[in-house]
Amino acid sequence: MSATIIDGEAIAAEIRDEVAADVRAVVERDGRPPHLTAILVGDDPVSHSYVRGKARDCKAVGILSEALALPADITMETLLAKIAERNANPDVSGMIVQLPLPNALDDATATRAVDPAKDVDGLHPVNLGLLARGEPRYVSATPSGVQQMLMRSGHDPAGKRVVVVGRSTLVGRPVAMLLSNKGPGANATVTMAHTGTADLAAVTREAEILIVAAGQPRMVTAEMVAPGAVVIDVGMNRVDDASRKRGYRLVGDVDFDAVSEVASAITPVPGGVGPLTRAMLLVNTVKAASQ
Ligand code: NDP
Repeated sequence: MSATIIDGEAIAAEIRDEVAADVRAVVERDGRPPHLTAILVGDDPVSHSYVRGKARDCKAVGILSEALALPADITMETLLAKIAERNANPDVSGMIVQLPLPNALDDATATRAVDPAKDVDGLHPVNLGLLARGEPRYVSATPSGVQQMLMRSGHDPAGKRVVVVGRSTLVGRPVAMLLSNKGPGANATVTMAHTGTADLAAVTREAEILIVAAGQPRMVTAEMVAPGAVVIDVGMNRVDDASRKRGYRLVGDVDFDAVSEVASAITPVPGGVGPLTRAMLLVNTVKAASQ
């Protein structure tokens, strides 16, 4: 079997078109577009490039964005004061704090300081709690991107056996909660696997839909996948590659070439879940403008 490739770029483009139309409706209603603030602390080049990408994505659909760059030696008090200012500013619809913060600052405290009504990253305990209750408001962009990807590629998870490898707060746990909720695009029977899982291969082979978010380059091999399964590879790992100008390339958590011979559909890396993650932040920001 040679798997169908699920094209994340094409699905993300479709979502961006919908967001652009929603932004126009917000402008008509409110007289101004949704506004996203990204708070960025320090000079980590990867974080800077993520925030630049988010600003470009906003611009493309008509969302206003502000990148608030703060020095690495800022105190927690000052960071919290900046977050509080944006919480209180009615012109700011949504806010993200780019993680990880420098070591001297606390990611969890910063995450909790964002007004849950503006928490478009969906990482505040209130929003995670709403998701756990089956009443999702803002679901973080990668899990909701995975859900959209499944729905829009014709792989409705309803009634399916889904295995998620990974239980992080950012990806594994929320995607497992989201797909096991009652409602459209969900209703799956979900197993969450992790480093404590005994005989991981036996568990992953039970999956009709296998979602991998482990951060381990190519750890899922063909033997771990049931024939005909749909495989969503969330992993984004840098591996050395001297043939590339930048000296590395991105690979997923799935051994793409071998698994493509077994699966019925698979996402590539890059060009799979990544573009969906970017698009879903825009969806959440438009939603925030209506809260
Ligand atoms: P974390 O490191 O926070 O979590 C990884 C999870 O995978 C943990 O729960 C860990 O288990 C589990 N795990 C790791 N190794 C194994 C193994 N050998 N067997 C079983 N379980 C394992 O990572 P994230 O969830 O933040 O990210 C996961 C991957 O997704 C990364 O490659 C990241 O770069 C990528 N990513 C991609 C995004 C995109 O837009 N495409 C967005 C966000 C992340 P345990 O809890 O037991 O330690």
